[in-house]
Amino acid sequence: MMCIYCKSSNPEKFKKVEHVVPQGFGRFGTQTPTLHGCVCDDCNSLFGQTIDQYLTRETLEGVVRYNKGILSTEARPQTRLHITLENAPENGGLGGMKVAIDGSGAKLMPVKAQYLILNQRTGQWEHYFKENIRGIQLPEDVYGKPGGNGVTGNRQCKVFALSKEEHDEVVALLQENGVAYIPGDPFIPMLAPSSGNVSLLIEGEVTPEHRRAHAKIFLNLIAFHLGCDEAMKPHWDFLRRYVRFGEGAIRYSMDKYPLEDEQKRESGESVVIQIKNVIGHVVGTIRFYGNPAYHYILRERAAVPDEHEFGFIFTEGNNPEPLPILTGR
Ligand SMILES: [Zn+2]
Repeated sequence: MMCIYCKSSNPEKFKKVEHVVPQGFGRFGTQTPTLHGCVCDDCNSLFGQTIDQYLTRETLEGVVRYNKGILSTEARPQTRLHITLENAPENGGLGGMKVAIDGSGAKLMPVKAQYLILNQRTGQWEHYFKENIRGIQLPEDVYGKPGGNGVTGNRQCKVFALSKEEHDEVVALLQENGVAYIPGDPFIPMLAPSSGNVSLLIEGEVTPEHRRAHAKIFLNLIAFHLGCDEAMKPHWDFLRRYVRFGEGAIRYSMDKYPLEDEQKRESGESVVIQIKNVIGHVVGTIRFYGNPAYHYILRERAAVPDEHEFGFIFTEGNNPEPLPILTGR
């Protein structure tokens, strides 16, 4: 027994089971792929609390799974994804309001009162909930000049709240903290958006944690399909160090080498993962539920033998299905 991530070989440390695809993406029939004896308990726990949790809760693919009925065990607002209600008729006057998704029920979490202000340098709206207003700093060269008392300002801001009480609380907090917020139109009670029928804008970035979580799925799948001995070989050292210690950087692109049509049709409901040779590199491709695919260079200027090129489709509730590798060569 030896850990493919940290190379620990302490036999006491291999009691847990590593899931090739994090459990947050579902169970895959009777053959849910797992690794036994080649990921140590320390690495398993560390990944579970860090990169797996990140991937399953704080990424687009992590929240899109809720649509497939694959729910989270606990409700917890997203902290790294920015989710706002779009300016769409079904959202009433609440377009622009920041919301969070309760992954345990695939519904919106209760909408919190908030102050929005346009950052004139970035062109982005910034959101402050009541607990973030204390100590707020809004330099005029970034946020514009406030108006009022006969002075015309160019600051753009608004307060969103579902009740007059909450609205007034936010305004009072702003004023206490030196923000000259003068309510404009009289407060009109707005209805909370109905969970079943809202349009959301989800924004985020592909962070290092996100990339490491993807990279771990590739090395796990290599160990599962080709064996732990293959995954231990030095040519995968880069990948293990990247996943475990965040060392180095991994090159990737999105949708540069599209999946073949046949695979694309299947992928709306599934997670598709493949490893193959592309233009002189070993490339791992991963696509969640028809979202754009990520293509990672797992080994630069290298090739694996043909029989080491492989792919799988993972669909919740079904056994993983092997993918024919269509290389087009
Ligand atoms: Zn380990």
